[in-house]
Amino acid sequence: MEPFSAHVVGAGLAGSEAAWQLAERGHRVLLSEMRPRVPTPAHLTDRFAELVCSNSLGSDLPDRAGGLLHAEMRLLGSFIVACAEVARVPAGNALAVDRDRFAEEVTRRLSSHPNIEVRREEVTAVPQALPAVVASGPLTSPPLAASIRELTGTDALYFYDAIAPIVEHDSLDLSVCFRSSRYAEADQAEGDYLNCPLNREEYRRFVEALKAAERMPLRDFEQEDEQFFESCLPIEVLASRGDDALAFGPMRPVGLLDPRTGRRPHAVVQLRQDNLAGSLYNLVGFQTNVKWGEQERILRLIPGLERAEFVRLGQMHRNTFINSPRLLDPALFLRKRPDLFFAGQIVGVEGYAGNAATGLLAGINLARRLEGKPLLVLPRETMLGALCHYVTHAEPKHFQPMKANFGILPPLEAPPRSKRDRYQAYADRALTALEAGAPR
Ligand SMILES: Cc1cc2nc3c(=O)[nH]c(=O)nc-3n(C[C@H](O)[C@H](O)[C@H](O)COP(=O)(O)OP(=O)(O)OC[C@H]3O[C@@H](n4cnc5c(N)ncnc54)[C@H](O)[C@@H]3O)c2cc1C
Repeated sequence: MEPFSAHVVGAGLAGSEAAWQLAERGHRVLLSEMRPRVPTPAHLTDRFAELVCSNSLGSDLPDRAGGLLHAEMRLLGSFIVACAEVARVPAGNALAVDRDRFAEEVTRRLSSHPNIEVRREEVTAVPQALPAVVASGPLTSPPLAASIRELTGTDALYFYDAIAPIVEHDSLDLSVCFRSSRYAEADQAEGDYLNCPLNREEYRRFVEALKAAERMPLRDFEQEDEQFFESCLPIEVLASRGDDALAFGPMRPVGLLDPRTGRRPHAVVQLRQDNLAGSLYNLVGFQTNVKWGEQERILRLIPGLERAEFVRLGQMHRNTFINSPRLLDPALFLRKRPDLFFAGQIVGVEGYAGNAATGLLAGINLARRLEGKPLLVLPRETMLGALCHYVTHAEPKHFQPMKANFGILPPLEAPPRSKRDRYQAYADRALTALEAGAPR
């Protein structure tokens, strides 16, 4: 094989897609995958694009966020979606696969591509010799994680353990939630937070429900990491330490007056705006590992959240991701090293399809860089463009991973009243924008 033009690190969902896109454009690719020589705590096989948990890539309906992403990926020539079609299993409207068949297909096609050489090796440092895509995922091996941290700065790589839920603004009861800043945070402008006030009885009911809630089991490797959780403890762990622990912790109401009563509530849940459009809010300090059905039920006990619609629920697992808003360009290269691209969960995207989609864009863009062409930044009206925009423009201090959802798209000029029509309008606009701006 002739000398390589590009190095792709990690043959997961993002790396497999990136390697394919480069190879199909005639570039010679070195694809490094450390399994099975070096295992991860979650993968079970030596195959590429192994799905570690669910076997579903999400809804395939074009008027759902996941389905829109699939449609965009098909338009852009996605390798992962093509392999998923081959391994598809009946699952209603979802794109679900036989996970073994799927991973086999991805492995076979990549391994037999004339422009790809696969090496089963652990990459222990960020590639220097070749332009590269780093797609080593949430379980990036420790030596590579250390090298990424050295390149990007010590505070720019997280080992993130727990995430808090995100709710749609339109689903909040604004006759109950009131706007006011978190006390003592001098850097917050007046009224940056929405507050859900709880009286003593409501607080007691919430804490009791939380203490009784069933939690998601942690895997062995995550239990080993439990000492890391102390600085961002899940709310159910706090509740189990004492009935007042939450009221003195993330739910402390100091400095806040409920305009309905003119008095300080017993406790509050604070919501912080999560996207520029103000359509999404996250529950501050509410990281949790309670089972999802149970979690929604308990969170809806909070006044103002009775009809809340969650675009993301809390969960906990080890996760490695860079501070993309500080480090990455929306075309997915490192601003300080334009020949180095990042893709997949390591850029702070969630979900199988979203991760594969960033691999698709990183692969296309590295190929364009090698060809001296302008890089592709997808329109923000598209789901993939919006995801890339979100992870590269979110507020760096509070940056948390994001999955495909309609809340990250720019608002419609004339939004239809029904949710279904609104989602369809988002989808139509996205596909029109993509068709107009697709790479040639
Ligand atoms: C326990 C767990 C459960 C999850 N469940 C779900 C779920 O149900 N649904 C969902 O959508 N998402 C789930 N995720 C998130 C899921 O990991 C991502 O959606 C997706 O797999 C990320 O794609 P990726 O390509 O970024 O990483 P991965 O698919 O993990 O691929 C990264 C690859 O890089 C390799 N690698 C790592 N370090 C090195 C190195 N130094 N050198 C060479 N190779 C290396 C790894 O072996 C791996 O093959 C889960 C994650 C975890 C950890």
